[in-house]
Amino acid sequence: MAHDHGDRTLALREALTLAAQRVADYRAALPESRVAPLATRAELRAALDSPFPQESAPLERVIDELVAAATPGLVASAGPRYFGFVVGGSLDAALVADVLTSGWDQNAFNEALSPAAIAFEDVAGRWLKEALGLPPAASVGFVTGAQGANTVGLAAARWWVLQQAGWDVGREGLFGAPRVRVLVGRERHATIDRALRLLGIGERAIEEVPALQNGAMDTAALARGLAHGAGTPTIVCAQAGNVNTGACDDLRAAADAARAANAWLHVDGAFGLWAAASPRARRLVEGIERADSWACDGHKWLNVPYDAGYAFCAHPDVHATAMAYSASYLTGQVTGRAFGGGDFVAESSRRARGFATWAALRSLGRTGVAQLVDRSCELARRLADGVRAIDGVEVVNDVVLNQVLVRVGDDITTDAVQRQLTEEGTVWLGATTWRGERLLRISISNWSTTARDVDQCVEAIARAVASCA
Ligand SMILES: *Cc1c(COP(=O)(O)O)cnc(C)c1O
Repeated sequence: MAHDHGDRTLALREALTLAAQRVADYRAALPESRVAPLATRAELRAALDSPFPQESAPLERVIDELVAAATPGLVASAGPRYFGFVVGGSLDAALVADVLTSGWDQNAFNEALSPAAIAFEDVAGRWLKEALGLPPAASVGFVTGAQGANTVGLAAARWWVLQQAGWDVGREGLFGAPRVRVLVGRERHATIDRALRLLGIGERAIEEVPALQNGAMDTAALARGLAHGAGTPTIVCAQAGNVNTGACDDLRAAADAARAANAWLHVDGAFGLWAAASPRARRLVEGIERADSWACDGHKWLNVPYDAGYAFCAHPDVHATAMAYSASYLTGQVTGRAFGGGDFVAESSRRARGFATWAALRSLGRTGVAQLVDRSCELARRLADGVRAIDGVEVVNDVVLNQVLVRVGDDITTDAVQRQLTEEGTVWLGATTWRGERLLRISISNWSTTARDVDQCVEAIARAVASCA
């Protein structure tokens, strides 16, 4: 037995070392590698789709098969020339911390299960609030992403607005409850609608607030809308960082309007909340500290590996009442205990996400976080200037943050240009429909993107436009 154990330890050490080398090689090649995958889902499946093997396989063989089968289908989204959606890469320190997290395999439900996991969430949570300028007393739930954070924030909102109306939603549910109104901008992210569906509030509760030219919410219209239904339980949902234009709602005006109506203010700031971490960009989100709850991502602009999101709430008691559960078998859960871990999220057993976020913040420092934001914004402006110089190409949005919207012709041409870019593989960027028009959408949110990568992107767009003309 002792011999077996020794062999197994050695095999694991070798496999981990090999995996680490493979990851290091993969990432070292990212700056020069093709961005789009080489194989489609169907092709990958055809190569992979064997019958479920009857017999076990040794570690080395499992890993070899995994790497060989997955590699052609990998997208270089961790690299510097992936400009699609709002994706971000992963900082080296956060990646290594994430590998340790897997090795340690902690359950971050509570302190009894892992004091380390909870303590790192405590401290990383405090640093996040400091970086983002949120109230020091706010609670933080480490969730899977902004979808999770929006759902948690809106769950707290639902509990509070109904409690104000004398209704305990935790106990009574929504059958027979007073109607809840949700005022949210027309250009909200679709995860808000899904959160409202899951929470039983429903899409019909949404009262859309018109958008301004740049995609931000028209807060004068918000104030008028709120004045209408005074006395009704009301949630206002603002946005920092429009996924197309990067525009941020006027949060001061939204907070004034929400306060006057005794409404709960939630802010979806999946990536735009990071503007607050830069002294230069901070003016975009002034008033941010006055909201009741906030959703933010770690895996986008902070460059933490997937998955990492944060649900902040200015009212920890409301946050915990809406989300926590307790059971008699849960050692360490006593009345008056310090909340944390599983109390602020919708999961029970969960990954120890505090380690990777802590490592990202520790490696960057406050200055580094601000620089990451500023550099991305600067590169977005450089890219906008570059594409403007291409004949027949226009930048459609005011580039206030890290998002650039580009018109390269009619809808058919735009999609053809996008396909051509993907085929060529120098860069990857997506197309979007904004205000009824197909446009290229470019996001700069990776720590490793350089001016050279941006210039290569401009050149690739010029080539694709020329070939599709
Ligand atoms: C990306 C995004 C979301 C969803 O975030 P996930 O991390 O994908 O769950 C929500 N809102 C906005 C504004 C976003 O950009």
